[in-house]
Amino acid sequence: MRHRIAVVGSGPGGLAFARVLHRHGHHVTVLERDSSAAARPPGGTLDLQEGLGQLALAKAGLLAAFHELSRPEGQALRILDTDGTVLRDWQPRPGERANPEIDRGQLRDLLLGPLDVQWGRCVTQVVPGTGDGTLVRFADGRQETFDLVVGADGARSRVRPAVSPVTPHYTGVTYVETSLDDVDTRHPGIARLVGDGSVAVFGVNRALVGQRNSGGHVKAYAQFRAPLDRYPASGPAADPADAEAVRSGLLTLFDGWAAPVLDLLRHGTAFTSRPLHALPVSHTWAHVPGVTLLGDAAHLMPPLGAGANLAMLEGAELAEAVAALGDGDLDETVRAFEERMWARAGRWARITTAGLERLVGPDPEDAIALFDELQPS
Ligand SMILES: Cc1cc2nc3c(=O)[nH]c(=O)nc-3n(C[C@H](O)[C@H](O)[C@H](O)COP(=O)(O)OP(=O)(O)OC[C@H]3O[C@@H](n4cnc5c(N)ncnc54)[C@H](O)[C@@H]3O)c2cc1C
Repeated sequence: MRHRIAVVGSGPGGLAFARVLHRHGHHVTVLERDSSAAARPPGGTLDLQEGLGQLALAKAGLLAAFHELSRPEGQALRILDTDGTVLRDWQPRPGERANPEIDRGQLRDLLLGPLDVQWGRCVTQVVPGTGDGTLVRFADGRQETFDLVVGADGARSRVRPAVSPVTPHYTGVTYVETSLDDVDTRHPGIARLVGDGSVAVFGVNRALVGQRNSGGHVKAYAQFRAPLDRYPASGPAADPADAEAVRSGLLTLFDGWAAPVLDLLRHGTAFTSRPLHALPVSHTWAHVPGVTLLGDAAHLMPPLGAGANLAMLEGAELAEAVAALGDGDLDETVRAFEERMWARAGRWARITTAGLERLVGPDPEDAIALFDELQPS
């Protein structure tokens, strides 16, 4: 196979694509906007599901290495009432590996392995059908041409406009993320509260979630319904860079909740606002030769444990199909991949969209019922 293939983005989807192609001995150009792997904090923990993210890692030959790194104990989940009463306390069964957690940075390093990423290459535009292939334009004015450009460049994809005019819409829910370091020593109460996995507390149109990452690090998410950029939820918008203003706004929003739960906010360091956006459920496009999308670029959906899993499996499946192509038709292979991706992602988009309505919704009992439904019987 001598096709010139580029993937834009070195997130879980782009790296899974590149790593599986690499495993099959094929070259792929990985174009990443960040200046290096360490250019920004990689973010919190991800749970990788059997049959989705874990299947992708198996296709990349990395499943055993994943099991070495991942935290099966991170599957534990405790749900508290707003007064601190424990309502549910699920612990994983011995050997349970349905959904182990892994830090995003660890996953990225695992997938990166021998890959030669071109860092600092910010794509601004992709123009298919130029005669010599699909043209990629970069922020520094340079341009290159490929036979296939795979847009794995996330929510604000610059590749997407080459196939679809659709842009993500605000879901009405904002997450504000904060972190706590060295909790076992510095915040033993929070360490107990979060346990080995996660703790979640649901109120009316709001929730607080704490998640243990590796190395005594905890990420906490204040989740609430609010107009876009009304930060945190009402009154004049607080400057997101003013941590004390944000903290005070959040403590007002969660006023009356149990003190150990609010400690997640009291002791959190910097705050990052993540207004949740989504593409329409079942976003598809008329196939365009020479370019495709995968992951969030194709089907951004609420973060209920599916996005990275889907992105990775799509990347791995497309890579396998391209690697098996021989002298076959690249365009037909991509077209078939898109049909499969759209069907599966559409199902997950419906599930996660309905899930977000319940998790950050008017009835906290319904949020808990959602977790009851998800527990293995
Ligand atoms: C709070 C939160 C928790 C989540 N938890 C989970 C979870 O537990 N499990 C799960 O499966 N999913 C989870 N998700 C969703 C998951 O993070 C995303 O679905 C996943 O990261 C998508 O992967 P991706 O490879 O498609 O895109 P991304 O991870 O967004 O990667 C895109 C890459 O493209 C690069 N890029 C962007 N623009 C350009 C450009 N113009 N030129 C070059 N490069 C560019 C970016 O720098 C980035 O490296 C969560 C999301 C959030 C917000």
